[in-house]
Amino acid sequence: MSTHPLNVLELACDGVRGLTPYEPGKPIAELERELGIRDAIKLASNENPLGPSPRALEAVQACLAELARYPDGNGFALKRALAERHGVEAACITLGNGSNDVLDLVARTFLGPGRSAVFSRHAFAVYPIATQAVGATARVAQANRPDDSMPYGHDLGRLAAAVGEDTRVVFIANPNNPTGTWLRSGELEAFITALARDVIVVVDEAYFEYVDDPAYPDTTQWLDRFPNLVVTRTFSKAYGLAGLRVGYSVSSPAIADLLNRVRQPFNLNIPAQEAALAALGDEDHLSRSVALNRAGRSQWHLGLAALGLTALPSVGNFLCVGVNRPGTEVYRALLDRGVIVRPVGGYGLPEFLRVTVGTEAENARALGALGDALAEIASH
Ligand SMILES: *Cc1c(COP(=O)(O)O)cnc(C)c1O
Repeated sequence: MSTHPLNVLELACDGVRGLTPYEPGKPIAELERELGIRDAIKLASNENPLGPSPRALEAVQACLAELARYPDGNGFALKRALAERHGVEAACITLGNGSNDVLDLVARTFLGPGRSAVFSRHAFAVYPIATQAVGATARVAQANRPDDSMPYGHDLGRLAAAVGEDTRVVFIANPNNPTGTWLRSGELEAFITALARDVIVVVDEAYFEYVDDPAYPDTTQWLDRFPNLVVTRTFSKAYGLAGLRVGYSVSSPAIADLLNRVRQPFNLNIPAQEAALAALGDEDHLSRSVALNRAGRSQWHLGLAALGLTALPSVGNFLCVGVNRPGTEVYRALLDRGVIVRPVGGYGLPEFLRVTVGTEAENARALGALGDALAEIASH
Protein backbone atom coordinates (compact mmCIF):
# COMPACT_ATOMS: atom_id res chain seq x y z
CA MET A 1 0.00 0.00 0.00
CA SER A 2 1.31 3.44 -0.89
CA THR A 3 1.89 5.87 1.93
CA HIS A 4 1.14 8.89 -0.27
CA PRO A 5 -2.09 10.66 0.62
CA LEU A 6 -4.73 9.96 -1.99
CA ASN A 7 -5.38 12.95 -4.22
CA VAL A 8 -8.89 12.23 -5.45
CA LEU A 9 -8.91 15.46 -7.45
CA GLU A 10 -6.40 13.88 -9.81
CA LEU A 11 -8.64 10.84 -10.20
CA ALA A 12 -11.56 12.91 -11.45
CA CYS A 13 -12.21 13.30 -15.18
CA ASP A 14 -10.72 16.45 -16.74
CA GLY A 15 -14.00 18.29 -17.13
CA VAL A 16 -15.17 17.53 -13.60
CA ARG A 17 -11.94 18.78 -12.02
CA GLY A 18 -12.53 22.32 -13.28
CA LEU A 19 -16.24 22.45 -12.45
CA THR A 20 -17.81 24.79 -9.91
CA PRO A 21 -21.12 23.51 -8.57
CA TYR A 22 -24.41 25.22 -9.40
CA GLU A 23 -25.29 27.73 -6.70
CA PRO A 24 -28.94 27.44 -5.75
CA GLY A 25 -30.95 30.21 -4.07
CA LYS A 26 -30.62 30.35 -0.31
CA PRO A 27 -33.33 28.26 1.39
CA ILE A 28 -35.82 30.17 3.60
CA ALA A 29 -35.22 27.87 6.60
CA GLU A 30 -31.47 28.54 6.43
CA LEU A 31 -31.89 32.34 6.59
CA GLU A 32 -34.46 32.05 9.39
CA ARG A 33 -32.04 29.91 11.40
CA GLU A 34 -29.23 32.41 10.83
CA LEU A 35 -31.26 35.49 11.77
CA GLY A 36 -33.52 33.86 14.36
CA ILE A 37 -36.58 35.14 12.47
CA ARG A 38 -39.77 33.45 11.24
CA ASP A 39 -41.05 35.50 8.34
CA ALA A 40 -38.34 35.48 5.68
CA ILE A 41 -39.45 35.54 2.05
CA LYS A 42 -37.67 33.98 -0.88
CA LEU A 43 -37.81 35.55 -4.32
CA ALA A 44 -34.71 33.77 -5.53
CA SER A 45 -35.53 30.64 -7.51
CA ASN A 46 -38.34 31.64 -9.85
CA GLU A 47 -40.90 29.48 -8.09
CA ASN A 48 -44.66 30.02 -8.41
CA PRO A 49 -45.85 32.10 -5.42
CA LEU A 50 -49.33 30.51 -5.66
CA GLY A 51 -47.88 27.05 -5.09
CA PRO A 52 -49.01 23.93 -6.93
CA SER A 53 -52.47 23.39 -8.35
CA PRO A 54 -54.84 21.95 -5.69
CA ARG A 55 -55.52 19.17 -8.20
CA ALA A 56 -51.82 18.28 -8.23
CA LEU A 57 -51.81 18.09 -4.43
CA GLU A 58 -54.84 15.79 -4.48
CA ALA A 59 -53.16 13.57 -7.06
CA VAL A 60 -50.05 13.29 -4.88
CA GLN A 61 -52.15 12.32 -1.84
CA ALA A 62 -54.05 9.76 -3.85
CA CYS A 63 -50.94 7.90 -5.04
CA LEU A 64 -49.06 7.61 -1.76
CA ALA A 65 -50.21 4.04 -1.10
CA GLU A 66 -48.44 3.01 -4.34
CA LEU A 67 -45.00 4.08 -3.17
CA ALA A 68 -43.69 0.55 -2.65
CA ARG A 69 -43.91 0.13 -6.44
CA TYR A 70 -41.47 1.40 -9.03
CA PRO A 71 -42.89 4.23 -11.11
CA ASP A 72 -43.89 3.68 -14.74
CA GLY A 73 -40.46 4.02 -16.35
CA ASN A 74 -42.09 5.01 -19.62
CA GLY A 75 -44.35 7.64 -18.08
CA PHE A 76 -47.13 6.47 -20.36
CA ALA A 77 -50.01 8.64 -19.10
CA LEU A 78 -47.99 11.85 -18.76
CA LYS A 79 -46.32 11.44 -22.15
CA ARG A 80 -49.68 10.81 -23.80
CA ALA A 81 -51.14 13.97 -22.21
CA LEU A 82 -48.11 16.05 -23.24
CA ALA A 83 -48.16 14.65 -26.76
CA GLU A 84 -51.80 15.62 -27.07
CA ARG A 85 -51.06 19.09 -25.70
CA HIS A 86 -48.37 19.69 -28.31
CA GLY A 87 -50.02 17.82 -31.17
CA VAL A 88 -47.09 15.40 -31.55
CA GLU A 89 -46.61 11.66 -31.15
CA ALA A 90 -45.85 10.35 -27.66
CA ALA A 91 -42.57 9.06 -29.13
CA CYS A 92 -41.43 12.71 -29.38
CA ILE A 93 -41.58 13.26 -25.61
CA THR A 94 -38.68 12.59 -23.23
CA LEU A 95 -39.46 13.00 -19.54
CA GLY A 96 -36.82 14.38 -17.19
CA ASN A 97 -36.27 14.81 -13.48
CA GLY A 98 -36.70 18.51 -14.08
CA SER A 99 -35.77 19.90 -17.48
CA ASN A 100 -32.27 20.07 -16.05
CA ASP A 101 -32.17 16.31 -16.37
CA VAL A 102 -33.12 16.55 -20.05
CA LEU A 103 -30.36 19.12 -20.68
CA ASP A 104 -27.96 16.66 -19.09
CA LEU A 105 -29.28 13.82 -21.26
CA VAL A 106 -28.62 15.93 -24.35
CA ALA A 107 -25.07 16.60 -23.18
CA ARG A 108 -24.39 12.94 -22.41
CA THR A 109 -25.88 11.86 -25.72
CA PHE A 110 -24.28 14.35 -28.10
CA LEU A 111 -21.27 15.85 -26.29
CA GLY A 112 -17.96 14.50 -24.99
CA PRO A 113 -14.22 15.05 -25.39
CA GLY A 114 -13.34 16.55 -28.78
CA ARG A 115 -16.81 18.04 -29.18
CA SER A 116 -18.13 21.48 -28.29
CA ALA A 117 -21.34 23.17 -27.25
CA VAL A 118 -22.21 26.76 -28.12
CA PHE A 119 -24.16 29.04 -25.83
CA SER A 120 -24.32 32.72 -24.93
CA ARG A 121 -22.53 34.59 -22.23
CA HIS A 122 -24.94 35.30 -19.30
CA ALA A 123 -26.96 32.19 -20.29
CA PHE A 124 -28.45 29.66 -17.88
CA ALA A 125 -25.74 28.11 -15.65
CA VAL A 126 -26.68 24.52 -16.37
CA TYR A 127 -25.35 24.69 -19.98
CA PRO A 128 -21.68 25.15 -19.01
CA ILE A 129 -21.97 22.56 -16.23
CA ALA A 130 -23.58 19.90 -18.43
CA THR A 131 -21.04 20.60 -21.18
CA GLN A 132 -17.95 20.49 -19.01
CA ALA A 133 -19.09 17.48 -16.97
CA VAL A 134 -18.90 15.27 -20.05
CA GLY A 135 -15.51 16.61 -21.11
CA ALA A 136 -16.76 18.75 -23.99
CA THR A 137 -15.61 22.28 -24.73
CA ALA A 138 -17.77 25.35 -24.27
CA ARG A 139 -17.75 27.95 -27.03
CA VAL A 140 -19.26 31.00 -25.36
CA ALA A 141 -20.64 33.70 -27.67
CA GLN A 142 -20.61 37.36 -26.72
CA ALA A 143 -24.04 38.63 -25.70
CA ASN A 144 -25.87 41.77 -26.82
CA ARG A 145 -24.42 45.07 -25.70
CA PRO A 146 -25.89 46.84 -22.66
CA ASP A 147 -27.54 49.45 -24.92
CA ASP A 148 -29.28 46.83 -27.11
CA SER A 149 -33.08 46.57 -26.93
CA MET A 150 -32.42 43.16 -25.35
CA PRO A 151 -29.45 44.08 -23.16
CA TYR A 152 -27.11 41.15 -22.36
CA GLY A 153 -29.45 38.86 -24.32
CA HIS A 154 -28.50 36.24 -26.92
CA ASP A 155 -26.79 37.61 -30.06
CA LEU A 156 -27.82 35.08 -32.70
CA GLY A 157 -25.20 36.31 -35.17
CA ARG A 158 -22.45 35.71 -32.66
CA LEU A 159 -23.92 32.34 -31.67
CA ALA A 160 -23.90 31.27 -35.32
CA ALA A 161 -20.32 32.47 -35.71
CA ALA A 162 -19.25 30.47 -32.63
CA VAL A 163 -20.40 27.18 -34.18
CA GLY A 164 -17.33 25.21 -35.28
CA GLU A 165 -16.47 21.88 -36.90
CA ASP A 166 -16.59 20.18 -33.49
CA THR A 167 -19.89 21.73 -32.39
CA ARG A 168 -22.66 19.22 -31.78
CA VAL A 169 -25.05 21.22 -29.57
CA VAL A 170 -26.26 24.82 -29.33
CA PHE A 171 -28.12 25.76 -26.14
CA ILE A 172 -30.57 28.65 -26.39
CA ALA A 173 -32.63 29.87 -23.45
CA ASN A 174 -35.81 31.61 -24.58
CA PRO A 175 -36.40 33.62 -22.50
CA ASN A 176 -32.98 33.55 -20.93
CA ASN A 177 -32.42 33.23 -17.21
CA PRO A 178 -31.10 35.39 -15.50
CA THR A 179 -31.51 38.26 -18.01
CA GLY A 180 -35.21 37.73 -18.86
CA THR A 181 -34.51 38.73 -22.47
CA TRP A 182 -36.07 36.77 -25.31
CA LEU A 183 -35.88 35.99 -29.02
CA ARG A 184 -38.70 36.50 -31.50
CA SER A 185 -40.04 33.98 -33.93
CA GLY A 186 -38.50 35.34 -37.15
CA GLU A 187 -34.95 35.71 -35.90
CA LEU A 188 -34.91 32.33 -34.16
CA GLU A 189 -36.37 30.55 -37.15
CA ALA A 190 -33.77 32.14 -39.43
CA PHE A 191 -31.01 31.07 -37.05
CA ILE A 192 -32.11 27.42 -36.94
CA THR A 193 -32.68 27.37 -40.71
CA ALA A 194 -29.10 28.50 -41.31
CA LEU A 195 -27.61 26.12 -38.73
CA ALA A 196 -25.91 22.95 -39.98
CA ARG A 197 -28.26 19.97 -39.62
CA ASP A 198 -25.64 17.97 -37.74
CA VAL A 199 -25.81 20.41 -34.83
CA ILE A 200 -28.51 19.76 -32.23
CA VAL A 201 -30.26 22.97 -31.23
CA VAL A 202 -31.82 22.96 -27.77
CA VAL A 203 -34.41 25.68 -27.20
CA ASP A 204 -35.04 25.90 -23.47
CA GLU A 205 -38.55 27.26 -22.92
CA ALA A 206 -38.75 26.96 -19.13
CA TYR A 207 -40.86 30.13 -18.88
CA PHE A 208 -43.04 29.54 -21.96
CA GLU A 209 -46.40 29.84 -20.16
CA TYR A 210 -45.59 33.32 -18.82
CA VAL A 211 -44.64 34.93 -22.11
CA ASP A 212 -47.14 37.42 -23.54
CA ASP A 213 -45.26 38.77 -26.57
CA PRO A 214 -47.24 37.61 -29.66
CA ALA A 215 -43.93 37.42 -31.59
CA TYR A 216 -42.59 34.80 -29.16
CA PRO A 217 -42.48 31.39 -30.84
CA ASP A 218 -43.81 28.01 -29.70
CA THR A 219 -40.95 26.01 -31.19
CA THR A 220 -42.64 22.68 -30.42
CA GLN A 221 -44.56 23.45 -33.61
CA TRP A 222 -41.34 23.52 -35.67
CA LEU A 223 -40.35 19.86 -35.30
CA ASP A 224 -41.50 18.94 -38.80
CA ARG A 225 -39.07 21.39 -40.31
CA PHE A 226 -36.10 20.90 -38.00
CA PRO A 227 -35.05 17.29 -37.26
CA ASN A 228 -32.17 18.63 -35.13
CA LEU A 229 -34.46 20.57 -32.76
CA VAL A 230 -34.97 19.74 -29.06
CA VAL A 231 -37.42 21.91 -27.12
CA THR A 232 -37.38 21.70 -23.32
CA ARG A 233 -40.21 22.65 -20.98
CA THR A 234 -40.74 22.32 -17.24
CA PHE A 235 -43.37 22.00 -14.51
CA SER A 236 -41.06 23.88 -12.11
CA LYS A 237 -42.10 27.41 -12.98
CA ALA A 238 -45.66 28.36 -14.01
CA TYR A 239 -47.02 24.94 -12.93
CA GLY A 240 -45.59 25.39 -9.43
CA LEU A 241 -44.02 21.94 -9.05
CA ALA A 242 -40.31 22.79 -8.66
CA GLY A 243 -40.02 20.51 -5.62
CA LEU A 244 -41.20 17.43 -7.50
CA ARG A 245 -38.78 17.75 -10.45
CA VAL A 246 -40.66 17.28 -13.71
CA GLY A 247 -39.50 18.52 -17.08
CA TYR A 248 -39.54 17.18 -20.61
CA SER A 249 -38.38 17.65 -24.13
CA VAL A 250 -40.18 17.56 -27.45
CA SER A 251 -38.03 16.37 -30.34
CA SER A 252 -38.03 13.99 -33.27
CA PRO A 253 -38.67 10.36 -32.21
CA ALA A 254 -35.10 9.55 -33.36
CA ILE A 255 -33.57 12.04 -30.92
CA ALA A 256 -35.97 10.93 -28.16
CA ASP A 257 -34.84 7.33 -28.76
CA LEU A 258 -31.20 8.33 -28.21
CA LEU A 259 -31.98 10.34 -25.07
CA ASN A 260 -33.94 7.38 -23.76
CA ARG A 261 -30.84 5.17 -24.03
CA VAL A 262 -28.94 7.21 -21.45
CA ARG A 263 -31.93 8.13 -19.30
CA GLN A 264 -32.15 6.52 -15.88
CA PRO A 265 -35.11 4.15 -16.20
CA PHE A 266 -37.07 5.57 -13.25
CA ASN A 267 -36.08 9.23 -13.41
CA LEU A 268 -39.61 10.45 -12.62
CA ASN A 269 -41.09 9.26 -9.36
CA ILE A 270 -44.75 8.33 -8.94
CA PRO A 271 -45.99 11.53 -7.21
CA ALA A 272 -44.15 13.63 -9.81
CA GLN A 273 -45.88 11.87 -12.72
CA GLU A 274 -49.30 12.06 -11.06
CA ALA A 275 -48.94 15.71 -10.04
CA ALA A 276 -47.74 16.81 -13.46
CA LEU A 277 -50.63 15.06 -15.15
CA ALA A 278 -53.13 16.72 -12.79
CA ALA A 279 -51.44 20.14 -13.12
CA LEU A 280 -51.63 19.91 -16.89
CA GLY A 281 -55.41 19.60 -16.58
CA ASP A 282 -55.82 22.64 -14.32
CA GLU A 283 -55.99 25.53 -16.79
CA ASP A 284 -57.53 27.82 -14.16
CA HIS A 285 -54.58 27.55 -11.82
CA LEU A 286 -52.22 28.21 -14.70
CA SER A 287 -54.16 31.32 -15.80
CA ARG A 288 -54.24 32.64 -12.24
CA SER A 289 -50.49 32.11 -11.98
CA VAL A 290 -49.81 33.88 -15.26
CA ALA A 291 -52.14 36.78 -14.39
CA LEU A 292 -50.56 37.21 -10.95
CA ASN A 293 -47.13 37.28 -12.57
CA ARG A 294 -48.16 39.90 -15.12
CA ALA A 295 -49.52 42.18 -12.39
CA GLY A 296 -46.47 41.51 -10.22
CA ARG A 297 -44.04 42.37 -13.02
CA SER A 298 -45.78 45.78 -13.42
CA GLN A 299 -45.69 46.29 -9.65
CA TRP A 300 -41.94 45.69 -9.72
CA HIS A 301 -41.29 47.95 -12.71
CA LEU A 302 -43.22 50.79 -11.04
CA GLY A 303 -41.65 50.18 -7.63
CA LEU A 304 -38.15 50.09 -9.12
CA ALA A 305 -38.76 53.30 -11.06
CA ALA A 306 -39.77 54.98 -7.78
CA LEU A 307 -36.36 53.94 -6.39
CA GLY A 308 -34.57 55.25 -9.48
CA LEU A 309 -33.72 51.72 -10.67
CA THR A 310 -34.52 49.76 -13.81
CA ALA A 311 -34.72 46.10 -14.73
CA LEU A 312 -33.82 44.44 -18.00
CA PRO A 313 -36.84 43.64 -20.20
CA SER A 314 -38.33 40.30 -19.10
CA VAL A 315 -41.14 38.01 -20.20
CA GLY A 316 -40.50 35.54 -17.39
CA ASN A 317 -41.51 35.45 -13.72
CA PHE A 318 -38.35 37.26 -12.67
CA LEU A 319 -36.54 40.53 -13.27
CA CYS A 320 -32.85 41.26 -13.58
CA VAL A 321 -32.51 44.49 -11.61
CA GLY A 322 -29.58 46.88 -12.10
CA VAL A 323 -28.42 48.21 -8.71
CA ASN A 324 -25.43 50.32 -9.94
CA ARG A 325 -23.13 48.92 -7.24
CA PRO A 326 -21.95 45.45 -6.28
CA GLY A 327 -25.06 43.26 -6.26
CA THR A 328 -23.74 41.15 -3.37
CA GLU A 329 -23.74 44.25 -1.14
CA VAL A 330 -27.44 44.85 -1.78
CA TYR A 331 -28.13 41.11 -1.59
CA ARG A 332 -26.66 40.97 1.92
CA ALA A 333 -28.53 44.08 3.07
CA LEU A 334 -31.75 42.43 1.83
CA LEU A 335 -30.93 39.20 3.70
CA ASP A 336 -30.64 41.27 6.90
CA ARG A 337 -34.23 42.30 6.20
CA GLY A 338 -35.43 38.75 5.69
CA VAL A 339 -35.62 38.96 1.88
CA ILE A 340 -33.78 36.43 -0.27
CA VAL A 341 -33.03 37.36 -3.88
CA ARG A 342 -30.29 36.15 -6.22
CA PRO A 343 -26.95 37.83 -6.86
CA VAL A 344 -25.85 37.13 -10.44
CA GLY A 345 -22.15 38.02 -10.38
CA GLY A 346 -21.47 34.39 -11.27
CA TYR A 347 -23.34 35.04 -14.54
CA GLY A 348 -21.06 37.98 -15.37
CA LEU A 349 -23.64 40.51 -14.14
CA PRO A 350 -22.01 41.78 -10.91
CA GLU A 351 -24.19 44.89 -10.61
CA PHE A 352 -27.52 43.11 -11.00
CA LEU A 353 -29.82 41.12 -8.77
CA ARG A 354 -32.37 38.63 -10.05
CA VAL A 355 -35.69 38.84 -8.25
CA THR A 356 -38.58 36.45 -8.70
CA VAL A 357 -42.02 38.01 -9.01
CA GLY A 358 -43.96 36.99 -5.89
CA THR A 359 -47.41 37.74 -4.52
CA GLU A 360 -48.43 41.40 -4.29
CA ALA A 361 -47.53 41.42 -0.57
CA GLU A 362 -44.13 39.77 -1.15
CA ASN A 363 -43.29 42.21 -3.94
CA ALA A 364 -44.29 45.17 -1.76
CA ARG A 365 -42.17 43.90 1.12
CA ALA A 366 -39.15 43.23 -1.10
CA LEU A 367 -39.43 46.67 -2.72
CA GLY A 368 -39.66 48.30 0.71
CA ALA A 369 -36.63 46.34 1.90
CA LEU A 370 -34.76 47.29 -1.27
CA GLY A 371 -35.42 51.00 -0.64
CA ASP A 372 -34.22 50.65 2.97
CA ALA A 373 -31.18 48.63 1.93
CA LEU A 374 -30.10 51.20 -0.66
CA ALA A 375 -30.61 54.07 1.82
CA GLU A 376 -28.49 52.24 4.38
CA ILE A 377 -25.71 51.56 1.88
CA ALA A 378 -25.75 55.19 0.69
CA SER A 379 -25.42 56.44 4.30
CA HIS A 380 -22.19 54.50 4.92
C1 LIG B 1 -35.62 27.11 -14.06
C2 LIG B 1 -35.03 26.82 -15.37
C3 LIG B 1 -35.06 25.54 -15.89
C4 LIG B 1 -35.87 24.48 -15.22
O1 LIG B 1 -35.21 23.69 -14.37
P1 LIG B 1 -35.97 22.39 -13.87
O2 LIG B 1 -34.87 21.40 -13.83
O3 LIG B 1 -37.03 22.03 -14.84
O4 LIG B 1 -36.51 22.74 -12.52
C5 LIG B 1 -34.54 25.30 -17.14
N1 LIG B 1 -34.01 26.30 -17.86
C6 LIG B 1 -34.00 27.56 -17.40
C7 LIG B 1 -33.46 28.63 -18.27
C8 LIG B 1 -34.49 27.86 -16.14
O5 LIG B 1 -34.44 29.09 -15.67
